[in-house]
Amino acid sequence: LPKQARLAFQFRTYITNHEKIQDVQNTPYFLDNKFVQSSTTKFIDLHDPATNNLVTRVPQMTSEEMKKAVESAEKAFESWKKTSVLHRQQIMFKFVQLIKENHDRLAASITLEQGKTFADAKGDVLRGLQVAEAACAAPELLKGDLLEVAKDMETRSYREPLGVTAAICPFNFPAMIPLWCIPIATVTGNTLILKPSERDPGAAIILAELVKKAGFPEGVVNIIHGSHDAVNFIIDEPAIKAISFVGGNKAGEYIFTRGSANGKRVQANLGAKNHAAVLPDCNKNHFLNAVAGAAFGAAGQRCMALSTLVFIGDETQKWLPDLVERAKALKVDAGFEDGADLGPVISPESKARIESLIASAEKEGAKIVLDGRGYKPAKYPNGNWVGPTIITDVTPDMTCYKEEIFGPVLVCLKVDTLNEAVELINKNEYGNGVAIFTENGSSAEYFRKNIEAGQMGVNVPIPVPLPMFSFTGNKKSIAGGGVSTFYGKPGINFYTQTKTVTSLWKAEDDQAAKASVVMPT
Ligand code: NAD
Repeated sequence: LPKQARLAFQFRTYITNHEKIQDVQNTPYFLDNKFVQSSTTKFIDLHDPATNNLVTRVPQMTSEEMKKAVESAEKAFESWKKTSVLHRQQIMFKFVQLIKENHDRLAASITLEQGKTFADAKGDVLRGLQVAEAACAAPELLKGDLLEVAKDMETRSYREPLGVTAAICPFNFPAMIPLWCIPIATVTGNTLILKPSERDPGAAIILAELVKKAGFPEGVVNIIHGSHDAVNFIIDEPAIKAISFVGGNKAGEYIFTRGSANGKRVQANLGAKNHAAVLPDCNKNHFLNAVAGAAFGAAGQRCMALSTLVFIGDETQKWLPDLVERAKALKVDAGFEDGADLGPVISPESKARIESLIASAEKEGAKIVLDGRGYKPAKYPNGNWVGPTIITDVTPDMTCYKEEIFGPVLVCLKVDTLNEAVELINKNEYGNGVAIFTENGSSAEYFRKNIEAGQMGVNVPIPVPLPMFSFTGNKKSIAGGGVSTFYGKPGINFYTQTKTVTSLWKAEDDQAAKASVVMPT
């Protein structure tokens, strides 16, 4: 029994190595620093993607329960907003320390519920932890501006919290995305209602335990569960001032539009179709490993997965057999198994959708040079398996190119010049991430200047910015034209309202007998 599996859960019967859980328990929600069982009669069954064994049932909470969570957050806000930033910073230091101490436990819950490998799940936790670490710089980040704007007159700006905020999270990063929100929302003085994905809320529940241990007062972070009804509740609840959403376009565009119409601030990171462009002067070995890792890692279920490869020129296309070999060398297995490179996809429905997109490619004239359909590891015949798949001779009109596949599938296109690669990539509606592989600085610089994508890697396959920067998707990958982005300085802006105060402190008494009616100059 791997150590990490033994560490997995406190709230449930211990999870063994993907064995059936004898006493399946419902996931609790988190209110006023307590774990509570919902009184609902509606639950969503959560299955281990490697076995499809039942792990837990996630409640579709009643609107009364969700309303209580908001009332608690409203009440908590009254005192939390008055705490000093140094006090909140101390709690954040503690929270960071606790995440470090619980790193393996968080990762184990991710492997169990989401399916990604244990090593990859640790990365999921780490990338969230780094946001909490960066949030410890709040005293610096929350400083306002000050200027003497005229004689005896100064203008100062303050950053004030918004009130009750909410976060709606996707399934693919069960720790990282909640940690994009919890630290920044709270260190700026807001309270937060977090709705994890109903498909893997376990990591968020462990984070809730750490929230309490770190010393956050009751109600500063509450966690609710559900799917569409919970989301609609958040969008329409007047006390919620801002919504952070990460997920697909269908839900995100709806939440952005309806949330904004309700007068809320909404930041929404959406889907992607990330391209890698490869030039013949690149370091071939690095390119092969980088693309195989970024296309198939996490079973392709990353918003920054490199799912589309653009060969530039005939030479690079000759590397295809090498790429197929690198892909074949990846071990597809349950996430707790030693040596597993990629795990299952999240659900049987997701597997069926991915397989139908592969079939559509075949039907529309592309070639499947590596077919991951039908693969299953002997020990786990019931999991949602799709092996690495490579599709070539793809053209931009094909369904497999137009849709986000979100599985371990790499689609390959071919152009003759760098300029054509730029044109092709820019025509795609999504603009989350992009990468170029070259050793030529001028080519990289040409690409940088002309490409329409929010996050670019030069020989870096998954250029997710660290938290001192911000997650800057572009085009259809972010709602509202990228009006707000997660973490970094824009994240602080999102969670704060600026108040600008202009003061006049005259040395001598005002002796004027008549009021001035002109606009002050
Ligand atoms: P999803 O949109 O299905 O779910 C996200 C959240 O929205 C969940 O909490 C879910 O309960 C809710 N939801 C889903 N459908 C809804 C609907 N019709 N109405 C109201 N609420 C709804 O996304 P997912 O499948 O969990 O995550 C994968 C998607 O997230 C991919 O498209 C991926 O590219 C994207 N993603 C984007 C980023 C980014 O930063 N751009 C990061 C991670 C994931």
